Amino acid sequence: VSATTASRARTRTFPVIEIFGPTIQGEGPDAGMPCNFIRLGGCDYRCTWCDSMHAVDPALVREHAKRMTAERIVALLDELPGTADLVVISGGNPALHDLEDLVRLLKASGRIVSVETQGSRWRRWLESVHRLVVSPKPPSSGMATTEHMRAFWDFMARADAASKRPAIKVVVFDHVDFDWAVQLKLNLEASYEGLPFFVSAGTNVMGEDFPLRYQRQGICERYQWLCEHVAAEPAFADAKVLPQLHALAWGQEKGR
Ligand code: SF4
Repeated sequence: VSATTASRARTRTFPVIEIFGPTIQGEGPDAGMPCNFIRLGGCDYRCTWCDSMHAVDPALVREHAKRMTAERIVALLDELPGTADLVVISGGNPALHDLEDLVRLLKASGRIVSVETQGSRWRRWLESVHRLVVSPKPPSSGMATTEHMRAFWDFMARADAASKRPAIKVVVFDHVDFDWAVQLKLNLEASYEGLPFFVSAGTNVMGEDFPLRYQRQGICERYQWLCEHVAAEPAFADAKVLPQLHALAWGQEKGR
């Protein structure tokens, strides 16, 4: 590590919305694994059902985010209880930031680094993470326009050029989303055969005060509906279907 890189890691700061754990990863290839989360502020999307607006809306990001260096972030993770190896960098869209130094420090501390992004902007540092989970947004988000999808396919081409094989996760709320996910899977298979593909039953944003048992009921009903459709869909023979496990356990409690 050069002196310049080390000094950059000490001075460059990132807008941290929250660092929390231990919890479990609720979705995707590491679903069910104990982990800690780093949520960074800033997002180039505005999904209709976003449950992390405090990490998206610029005014809320300004209000909630604390600027921290990569070294400070790792020090705060070290203070968390538990022994989780996995750390998930989420947002917002973490790919809006240059996280090369942060990822390097996290890996040097022995952690498994997972990044979740919608796949709108490729970054060189994404090559170096252990797990890259790309979550293109379906029509119900309002973010599946031709322009958004052009950015996604560009992201995939760049990942492929860097020999990076991401896992794909699609949140599904309704029949339109489901059909869109099927077509996406078929299109991905044509160019990038065998990428791990996860279909996630979407959770309605109800607010933290909505009784947990009703939140759980809604999650289970949509999950059952989605399981039945995935099981009957040939394109999803090798896909996995999951509810958002963190939402099932804790509802929309923040810091979970
Ligand atoms: S991409 Fe994620 S963080 Fe950004 S608006 Fe959509 S759901 Fe929210």
